[in-house]
Amino acid sequence: DQSNSLHVRDVANLLHPNTNARRHEAQGPMIITRGEGIHVYDDQGKAYIEGLAGLWSVALGFGEKRLAEAAARQMQALPYYHTFSHKSNAPAIELAERLVEMTPEGLTKVFFTNSGSEANDTVVKMIWYYNNALGRPAKKKIISRARAYHGITIIAGSMTGLPMNQRDFDLPLPGFLHLTCPHHYRNALPGESEEDFATRLADELEAMILREGPETVAAFIGEPVMAAGGVMPPPETYWTKIQAVCRRHDVLMVADEVINGFGRLGTPFGCDRYGISPDFMVLSKQLTSSYMPLSAIVLSDQVYQVIADNSDRIGAFGHGFTATGHPVATAVALENLRIIEERGLIAHAAAIAPALQDGLRSRFADHPLVGEVRGVGLIAGVELVADKARKTKFDPPGQVAAYLHARAQEHGLILRAIEDTLAFCPPLIITEAEIGMILDRFGAALDDSYAWVKTRAAP
Ligand code: PLP
Repeated sequence: DQSNSLHVRDVANLLHPNTNARRHEAQGPMIITRGEGIHVYDDQGKAYIEGLAGLWSVALGFGEKRLAEAAARQMQALPYYHTFSHKSNAPAIELAERLVEMTPEGLTKVFFTNSGSEANDTVVKMIWYYNNALGRPAKKKIISRARAYHGITIIAGSMTGLPMNQRDFDLPLPGFLHLTCPHHYRNALPGESEEDFATRLADELEAMILREGPETVAAFIGEPVMAAGGVMPPPETYWTKIQAVCRRHDVLMVADEVINGFGRLGTPFGCDRYGISPDFMVLSKQLTSSYMPLSAIVLSDQVYQVIADNSDRIGAFGHGFTATGHPVATAVALENLRIIEERGLIAHAAAIAPALQDGLRSRFADHPLVGEVRGVGLIAGVELVADKARKTKFDPPGQVAAYLHARAQEHGLILRAIEDTLAFCPPLIITEAEIGMILDRFGAALDDSYAWVKTRAAP
């Protein structure tokens, strides 16, 4: 039948991103045919709660007609035009204006790109251009953190701090340095408080800058709350301390808000949650609820003025994409942001966050398989451990989480397994009752997994 043939044709023709290809040949695809609200449906008609909002991104959930209509209207009016060489279009202009309004003071210009990876590559090129223009070409090194996720292109992949995205690709490039991930549960010293841990990591950053030479270090990039590396909120004072070190050494700060931005943490941006004043903010995902590919960089006036002066001197700022400022993508983003505002979805996320955060903690923190429950707003992680008291990881890592992930799917809940951590990141439109459904389904899958672990441990 049709669905069988799609399964066969998928395996015959598609190489999937981030997917074990041989395992995929054996098990075939899960084909999603439609979605509505927080649910998606597979080709067998089975419904799932999309507990990760697609790839951390479908803020408005599925089937939002106003986004489809905004795209159709723009397709008919002007399906495409570029923004090179002084050309422009109304949706790109309006969206840029809106983003400057929404983002922290001091960020005054917008550059559009198509994906988070491209946006991060673009930021690094802007930073290199900026330091060349200022006559300090040696100031080029970029610092990020272990377990960071900033994308997979050559530069973004160099800033990402996950082995899977670097081994076998000769990454990171030289000049891309990594610091300790600010995850207290795994990386604090015995007895070290959150506050002392944050101080130690800021000291680590300063020591790295001094060792390398401040005249060679250009920027620090981080997700306010690290997501794809395993959902790891930093200690409360971490960012203030990091920011002070960066300022001391004239190191620019890039906030990668690709997942945090537009209400994920219950605040407009992660920078609002942690009091960060960045030189660049990188946006994507919830910017369009992923209905269209789009990303944006919002940059400071200081950086803009240097770029503008320099391009006046030497010619154009030589960077941009065919689809930079795409009118359909930007029109969809505008409508998406209008809906987020009209429905008060950022305040809604803050208001119902306790249902997810306290719900996960009260129901599962004491479970023998659970090492840590963590999260902020509507993003959370549950880390599984082999030995709760000793925080021992499973050996090999990932198997139990993969099993739990499969069981959750069986129970009608799509999550993400990141090594031994299960990640939760539901659409912002989710209700408290629907969060209750996520907790129930997760609980069932967790019990299944515990039974499975005990069977495996039995002699
Ligand atoms: N930055 C962050 C924080 C991300 O989470 C991601 C993707 O998950 C990216 C950048 C890369 O975005 P893309 O997959 O659109 O290239």
